Amino acid sequence: MPDLASNMVEPTGGFQMQGMMMRYNLFMPRLYNWCLSLGFKSGKIMPSRAFCSDESQGYPVIMIAKHFGTFPFNHGLVGGIVDTHRHGPHAEHGEDLVIIQASHVGYDPQSQTFGTYRRLQTADNEDSPNCGKVDNVITWYKNEYQFAQQNILLHQINGMNCIIVDNQLLREDLDEGLLLHLDKLIETDSNGQHLPFKILSTAKVFAASSEFVEKIGESAFMGKKPEPIGSELTSDIFYFRREIPHIKEGVHHLEHNLIRFMPQIITAQFPILTASQINTQIEFDLTFRTIVKEHSYRGKKLLFISGLNIDISPQSGQLFPLTKFVPWAAYVQDSDGSYSTFEQLELMQILEQQSVSNPDQIDMEAAIQGMTEAEEIKVHL
Ligand SMILES: [Zn+2]
Repeated sequence: MPDLASNMVEPTGGFQMQGMMMRYNLFMPRLYNWCLSLGFKSGKIMPSRAFCSDESQGYPVIMIAKHFGTFPFNHGLVGGIVDTHRHGPHAEHGEDLVIIQASHVGYDPQSQTFGTYRRLQTADNEDSPNCGKVDNVITWYKNEYQFAQQNILLHQINGMNCIIVDNQLLREDLDEGLLLHLDKLIETDSNGQHLPFKILSTAKVFAASSEFVEKIGESAFMGKKPEPIGSELTSDIFYFRREIPHIKEGVHHLEHNLIRFMPQIITAQFPILTASQINTQIEFDLTFRTIVKEHSYRGKKLLFISGLNIDISPQSGQLFPLTKFVPWAAYVQDSDGSYSTFEQLELMQILEQQSVSNPDQIDMEAAIQGMTEAEEIKVHL
C-alpha cells in the first residue's frame, strides 16, 4: 500500500476571497446569462449541482431551479465532492449542460468567524461546525497535532538549547500518526544522523538545530522547566501518515483530498475554511479531467464551475442562509469539442459583466400554485 501522505507540504494558496463573494440572487442570473451568451438554449439546459447534503445548501438549489427553470440534477456527495460516475445520466437529461460544484463553510457575522452555522431547527438555535463532514475528517488530525504540541518540549540543559521529543513522535514505523521533519528541529551530526544526547523513559533529548533556534528565538528555551513547543510547531515541521481505505467516492474521498494539506489546514486561522478552499481546488482539477474524457458529454455544450459556498448563519426569523458564492475556476466546452478554462479573477470578471436580469426565471409560487390547481391525472395500476 503506498504511503498516501506526502512528506512535504505543498503550498496550495491562490484562492482569493477579498472582493470575490457574490450573493446567490446575483450569481445565478449571471451564470444563466453567461450560458446564453455561449449559445446554450433556453429551456434545454440541464443544471446539476455537486453540493454537500447539508440543509444549508437548500437555498442555492432553489435559486438554481428558479433561474434555470428546472430542479437541478444531483452530482453531489457529502463534503462537496463530485460523483463523477453520474456524468452519463446527467448528459442524457439535457441538450446543454451545467455543473456547479461547491464546498461550503459557515460564517458567523457576530463573531466574524468561519466554520460554524446556526441550526435554527435545533432546540436552542445551536451553532455547530459547518461543513460538519470536513470538521469530522480533520478532528483526528487536530488531536494528533495537539498531542505533539504538548509533547515536544523546549529547554536549556547546561547552556545547550534542547528539544525533548516523545518517543511516539520519533517512531518512523507507525502506520498512522504525526511525523516530524527532524531536519527542521534537530541538529544533525557529521554523518547526517539525529542522535539523542540523552535517553529518557518516554522521550529523547536532542540538540535543537540552529535554524530552529534562530527562527523562534533563544528565549523560548529559557523557561525554568521544559515548555511545550505549542504554536511553534508550524506546518512546515510535520506531516501525517494514515491508512485511509482505498478510495470509494463519497466515503473517504474528502480525506484523500485533504491529507497532504492537513498541516496547513489544522494550523490555519479557520481550518474548515482552508479545508473547503483546498477541496474546491482539488475537485475542480479532478472533475475537469473526467469531463474531458467522458464520452457522454461529447458533442454537447457544457459549463462546469467550481467555488465555495459561504453559508452566513441565519438570524431568528430568517428561513434561509444568505449564501454567497466565491468562484474558483470554470471549464467551458462547445459542442465541436473545443474547450477553455477560466481562472478565478478572469471568471469573476466574466460573471460581473453579465446582466442580473433574467426574464426566463420562473415564479416559484406561481409554479407551485399551478401544480396545485392542475387537473388530476389518474395513475392506473
Ligand atoms: Zn457539509
